[in-house]
Amino acid sequence: MVFLKRYVWGPVQDPGMRCPVCGGACIRDAPVVLESLPSVFSRCPRCRFRVLDKGAPLQGRYYATPCACNKRFIDEVFAHLYVIMVEEDVLTGKEPLRSVGSPLIHPGFFMTGPPFLPPDSLVLLSPRVTKSVAQRIVDEVPEVRGVVRSGDFVPGVTDATLTAAPRTYERLAGCDVRAGVFPTEAGPLVIYTQQSRMHIEFPRLKNPKIQSVERHLAEKSPAWCVDACAGAGTLGLCAARHGVRGVVLNDAWFAAAFWSAMNLHVNRMFFRIGEVRMLSTYHAMEEHPIGGEPVRVAEASGEQSITVYQGNLRELWKVLPPVPVCAILDLFDKSDKTSMSQVLEEWRSLVPGEVFIP
Ligand SMILES: [Zn+2]
Ligand SMILES: [Zn+2]
Repeated sequence: MVFLKRYVWGPVQDPGMRCPVCGGACIRDAPVVLESLPSVFSRCPRCRFRVLDKGAPLQGRYYATPCACNKRFIDEVFAHLYVIMVEEDVLTGKEPLRSVGSPLIHPGFFMTGPPFLPPDSLVLLSPRVTKSVAQRIVDEVPEVRGVVRSGDFVPGVTDATLTAAPRTYERLAGCDVRAGVFPTEAGPLVIYTQQSRMHIEFPRLKNPKIQSVERHLAEKSPAWCVDACAGAGTLGLCAARHGVRGVVLNDAWFAAAFWSAMNLHVNRMFFRIGEVRMLSTYHAMEEHPIGGEPVRVAEASGEQSITVYQGNLRELWKVLPPVPVCAILDLFDKSDKTSMSQVLEEWRSLVPGEVFIP
């Protein structure tokens, strides 16, 4: 059965904010996402479910269809995926159920129990599926919004000094954009990422990096914060959520800089700013995947000033205000002590203020 799920999108708030990956209305404002959380994955009184052993092969070739409320228990969705993968010879039928892959829930947030999935709420990461099987999954399994072929590495730029080329996973079918909800002491942030292009952060009840930034803000009350390796923008936007007057977000990797800008827009109502001006597009930025000289991709001002750049962090000093800043350096390659201390030393010699490693 082919579901018409691609046509049941929610309200479009702003035609300029269509999803750059699929053209749909994947990106909702933070309050819309937050309001949905209490009920988005809960069951209706008619929802049935069986709990399957993820460590054993699926018994029989059976799966339940979604309830009249359109939701289906995650284990039944896994059973459906397993049956397709056996039919398509991706699995032999002897592998455990969990071999279908890693489910990334949209929107992702800290949950106490397994979810009842509505349509379009799961991105599947699998190292085994092919493009044609992925397309069949997206066409036939209504809960799956996208399928990504994963590898045993972290996608995106993993090297602050940019000597290594970025690696990405492959989006095989559908859309791999999804939101995660990250609690802060000043209230939650809704952070969108694109799973094939960026590393995966799992929302937890307590996020140690957010807590570490919050402790630092409470202690130092900086007027300016620079999130120099921003990823999807979580830590810089956390500083903005706490009312830091000036915030600069930067990442060398185009997808990170783009989604930082989008996340500024999605959460704009939590900041004391006017309109967010997007100064570039995903496709324009994709032409220059690795930033060198910082290029401004989004800006917003008001009582707070929040700016997003795509650039090499070693060049970022050129665009910073001539005031002491608190630099949040969330470097990936913390294990590479030599290059990290070199980057830190250079930063300290060029930028007044302090460096903080969460
Ligand atoms: Zn999309
Ligand atoms: Zn139901």
